[in-house]
Amino acid sequence: MTTATQLRVEAPREGYHRGLISCQVACPVHTDARGYVRAIAEERFEEAYLIARGPNPFASICGRICGAPCEAACRRGKVPRVDDDGRFVATDRPISIRALKRFACDQAGPEARPTERVLEALRGHVPDVAADAEEMAALLRAGVAGKFKPASGQRVAVIGAGPAGLSAAHDLALMGFKPVVLETESVVAGMLAVGVPAYRLPREVIAREVAVIQALGVEIRCGVTVGKDVSLAELRRDFAAVIIAVGAKSSRALGLPGERGPRVYGGVDLLRAVAVGETMDIGREVVVIGGGNVAYDVARTVLRQIAYDTARTVARLPGTSGVCLVSLETLEEMPADTVEIVEGDEEGIHRLNGWGPVEIVRDTAGAVMGVTFRQCLRVYDDQRRFNPAFNDAARETVSCDTVLLAVGQAANTAFLSDGGADIEQMRPGWPKVDKETLATTAPGVFVAGDLAHGTRLLIDAVASGKTAARSVYRHLTGRTITMEATTAHLPLPLYRRERSYESIRRVPVRAAEPHDRLKHPDALVELGYDRAEATREASRCLDCGVTPVFDGTRCVLCGGCVDVCPTQCLKLVMLSGLVPGAELDAAIAGALGAGADRENNSAILKDEDRCIRCAQCAMRCPADAITMERVRFATQWRSS
Ligand SMILES: Cc1cc2nc3c(=O)[nH]c(=O)nc-3n(C[C@H](O)[C@H](O)[C@H](O)COP(=O)(O)OP(=O)(O)OC[C@H]3O[C@@H](n4cnc5c(N)ncnc54)[C@H](O)[C@@H]3O)c2cc1C
Repeated sequence: MTTATQLRVEAPREGYHRGLISCQVACPVHTDARGYVRAIAEERFEEAYLIARGPNPFASICGRICGAPCEAACRRGKVPRVDDDGRFVATDRPISIRALKRFACDQAGPEARPTERVLEALRGHVPDVAADAEEMAALLRAGVAGKFKPASGQRVAVIGAGPAGLSAAHDLALMGFKPVVLETESVVAGMLAVGVPAYRLPREVIAREVAVIQALGVEIRCGVTVGKDVSLAELRRDFAAVIIAVGAKSSRALGLPGERGPRVYGGVDLLRAVAVGETMDIGREVVVIGGGNVAYDVARTVLRQIAYDTARTVARLPGTSGVCLVSLETLEEMPADTVEIVEGDEEGIHRLNGWGPVEIVRDTAGAVMGVTFRQCLRVYDDQRRFNPAFNDAARETVSCDTVLLAVGQAANTAFLSDGGADIEQMRPGWPKVDKETLATTAPGVFVAGDLAHGTRLLIDAVASGKTAARSVYRHLTGRTITMEATTAHLPLPLYRRERSYESIRRVPVRAAEPHDRLKHPDALVELGYDRAEATREASRCLDCGVTPVFDGTRCVLCGGCVDVCPTQCLKLVMLSGLVPGAELDAAIAGALGAGADRENNSAILKDEDRCIRCAQCAMRCPADAITMERVRFATQWRSS
């Protein structure tokens, strides 16, 4: 029976400790972020890079621009900070994992001068790279050890050289296939090259990262449009399998009156034009409609073009040019990252929140004169569904001569008409795919990236490319690749943390001053960490792979561990104070035998969100009942 004072607890079960490494769990390719952050803290930069690169062929690019789901999950961001009187002040801030990844890649990745060891590891010649550099090394090691039977060189066509297509091709090459990537653009890397502005992602970083992928055996043919230069039917005839990874490149329209006509463009079309050096007729007063990161990329890119053109030609007259970003959402609801909003404000983007577009106003000659908006009363309904409501009486017209729409993207899969009749579509243009395998309804045809799951993050595209590659392997060889994670517990008798690591505040990532940012369209905004900053920030990591393990047979119930814990994460309770449940009962039976006396036995409870792995409990324990242990996961690849 449950009483009001009983506590509901979770008993550790299979995989429990792995689940605690929340950064790794949250990453779609399960990068051991904790591993490389700790390696940076200990100044093992080469190893840090190899850990980051292991499961992710786009590690360097991710270091610059990843949406970093790992940071959102980081447990340091959940630890309460208290004042001297023990009162809650705020929760701490997560580790700056992405910026640390950039640091590691800057030190030892292809953008640096990689050491021979790193080069050999990337070429796949060293089966014994750092023990933690899991996935890629493990795959190669498994090949050497004969556990993984490579494919026999079949040719696989990959349509689209974005992160999904290139990640698929990268893994296919490692598995023994001959992947050929067909790309319509003259540049590779998809939206990373023709969408993400150079002030966030230098093109040199893309070039170097892609060069490594090519060096591993991936052939990329640029300037080839499937549906024009070659048909899907021909690819299906000439290649053993096809992966479609064409992304969602078209800007979505709103269908507003006045939308069709000159000087109303899709935001991603503007970004592409700037990226490939094509000219576009943009005026001096620009309205960007949208409130997400893409809207900011568009607005900040236009701002840079205006500032640069002005600097090169004539002095800019006050009020003669500007960019106004108008979003449906309030400031708090805007989907754009806070850093984008703050930096956009600093650079002089005029922001209007809470307005929805009604009409694009044109004069009798068809020139854009402005956009009329109506007030948005709410964007989401009670079920958190997108369902905006408006106040039609409150209208405002923002004058401008150019409008850029950044309200989502759509896929262009017209090429399915020649060779894709057996590919069922979920809705027009979007193939129906099996969520697990990314297979379409047509044999030998797979989908990856934005086209498979809708527009998401770069790292999601990488993950789905890798999944598609494994499905191709299974389809063509009849064998399945399995990745077995083996867990080992390593006692750490000498485990000690950095001095005062728990009170170090998040080290801000340096950024260029706003006036310097606009001097050149490609001037890098984020400057990154130097060595001292990186090691300091990395030393904040709670190292969730380490955990105190309690030996109940030794515990003398003195409560010293509870008293010494600086975050009050431990609690000593009678078993009768816990809400019974199947898992808890099994855990108690495992420790004390069936029918254990719950009135006279105790348990130590641990609040995982509060534990900072400081080891104070282990040091204090007079009975050596607490050991700090590293939980380590090794990956074994097998094909069967
Ligand atoms: C402006 C912008 C900024 C972004 N910023 C970030 C960010 O900071 N962080 C983040 O994590 N994510 C970001 N994203 C999301 C990320 O870029 C995408 O999720 C990712 O690029 C999707 O990868 P993909 O390979 O599926 O598609 P894409 O990157 O779109 O690549 C598809 C490729 O296929 C090619 N192609 C299309 N049709 C054909 C054809 N018929 N024949 C041959 N080739 C074809 C295209 O030219 C393109 O190169 C951003 C997206 C945009 C649009």
